[in-house]
Amino acid sequence: MNQFESMKAKVGKFSLANKTILLPEMGHSGSFLVAAAMRSFGIDAQVMETYKGLQLGKQYTSGKECFPCQITLGDVLYHLEREKERLGEGFNSENYLYFMAESGGPCRFGMYNKLHRIILDSMDGFSKTRIASLTAEDSYSVAGLMKPEEKTHFRRSAYVAVVISDILDRMLWRTRPYEKEKGQAEAYYEKTLENMCLAVEIHGRKKRFQQIYRTLEEAVVKAQDIIEPTIPAKPLIGMVGEIYLRSHTKSNQDLIKLLESYGGEVVNASLAEWVNYVSYDNMQKAGRKALLALKQRDLKSLSQNLRQWLSNRIELTYQYFRMDQIYRRVKKHLHIYNDHKIDKLEKQLDNGRLFSFHVGTEAGLSIGGALEYCLHGFDGIVNVFPFTCMPSTMCSAVLKPLLDRKQIPYIDASYDGTYQPNLEAAIRTFMYQAAQHQRKRLAQGNTRH
Ligand code: SF4
Repeated sequence: MNQFESMKAKVGKFSLANKTILLPEMGHSGSFLVAAAMRSFGIDAQVMETYKGLQLGKQYTSGKECFPCQITLGDVLYHLEREKERLGEGFNSENYLYFMAESGGPCRFGMYNKLHRIILDSMDGFSKTRIASLTAEDSYSVAGLMKPEEKTHFRRSAYVAVVISDILDRMLWRTRPYEKEKGQAEAYYEKTLENMCLAVEIHGRKKRFQQIYRTLEEAVVKAQDIIEPTIPAKPLIGMVGEIYLRSHTKSNQDLIKLLESYGGEVVNASLAEWVNYVSYDNMQKAGRKALLALKQRDLKSLSQNLRQWLSNRIELTYQYFRMDQIYRRVKKHLHIYNDHKIDKLEKQLDNGRLFSFHVGTEAGLSIGGALEYCLHGFDGIVNVFPFTCMPSTMCSAVLKPLLDRKQIPYIDASYDGTYQPNLEAAIRTFMYQAAQHQRKRLAQGNTRH
């Protein structure tokens, strides 16, 4: 089988039944909660230990690839090697499905799973591990992976798991800078994550979302006790950027904690934002295609695209309904920040003058997200991304001069696995500016949000 045949035969949508699904860790809570949602549907899903195989990831790549591509490659190679050692003769790489999503152009995310395929094929004993892939092109439809009667329900349960992971992260960022005892917030977060994984695994398939919400609500009520009420509000920093790097604390060298150590409180863009964006973007694309079909009097294409439009509209409405429902319940007890709605982010782009969603990628979300933070009185913006990331570089080119004019502190933080000696000094200076911004804002009577 040549490389192209192998990509066709061993990258795509394969049944998850009777296989062990290997998920790379991206956001800590997000990966574990999605794995729990999968287990709820009887899928043997495991989150691979992350970053331990980075050397392997670097060894089998040229250095020109995106950093997340190297990390995830390292994770799967490291995991399969450990499994081979553990099982000895009993190891069969065919029993595993490695999960790697993709998206269409214009950046390189669509290429990760192809490159990983070539590398797995070149390795002794790993060529039979197939790569299960979901694509943003069809809004991450799980058709082909699950039984047809379960696919919509699974997708929705997984979405609820993603929103819960966003809430847990927000709970951590809200409590850690104000904790009474050092380490209390993180310990509580880990314990809550375990409980929520259990709740999702038990109730996800049975659609008992109210039970899951109740467990979450109880956890959030107790989280208030972590906060020391006498600590004054800290400068609030909004984080945007490439989804993997901003969510994966090991590869961003725990940037949120570093910002907190210099006196900040941070809100990172969520994981659900990307899922909502994909549904929104596919809905808009179908709408544009339907309009073109109407002009060309192509009835077949018109009806196809109208169906596409409607299905994405329904999915997006459902997603927002669940998201609002969960945030409402949590916010009764703990003040966390609402997630962004995608149409609001698009409006921030000033009718395409600053950037256009038509270009695709996360740049539109990051630019719109940063401007939404500014509108709500945040004191500084951090753009986190892998070194040489194309969308984040565009985002930086737009945001830097814009926020400079608005006099809002801004910093780029790019990572490639090495330690930059001057990064900490730059972060310290940035936090100093953010504290000045907060003082000025409060003096003007602008209390935030
Ligand atoms: S978003 Fe950036 S890091 Fe991710 S594939 Fe595209 S260029 Fe690479």
